[in-house]
Amino acid sequence: MAQPLKKVNVDDLQYLTRFVSDKESHLVIKDHNICKTKCKEKYCTFFCPAQVYKWEGERMFVGFEGCHECGSCRIGCPYDNIEWKYPKGGLGVVFRLA
Ligand code: SF4
Ligand code: SF4
Repeated sequence: MAQPLKKVNVDDLQYLTRFVSDKESHLVIKDHNICKTKCKEKYCTFFCPAQVYKWEGERMFVGFEGCHECGSCRIGCPYDNIEWKYPKGGLGVVFRLA
């Protein structure tokens, strides 16, 4: 008989990830004005599991260094306002410890 899966807490697992940061962001807001004037809900501040996006009143701050590369940015922004690509080879999140 199959064993039940162990429950995990995603927040706890986040502490086991490591990041090798690039100097350049692999996440780019295409038009900050859209965030400011059209997107009242600021969806990215909710759908990103790593809390990369923080609204700073006038502009969206993008803490790309903590990105988990889940890819949700590609579909989560209703204005298609995030340019998303993987970090350059060897950079970005390292899940090996999780
Ligand atoms: S969801 Fe898209 S448009 Fe809205 S604040 Fe985030 S990046 Fe800007
Ligand atoms: S790819 Fe995932 S973790 Fe990275 S910024 Fe987008 S939603 Fe957040």
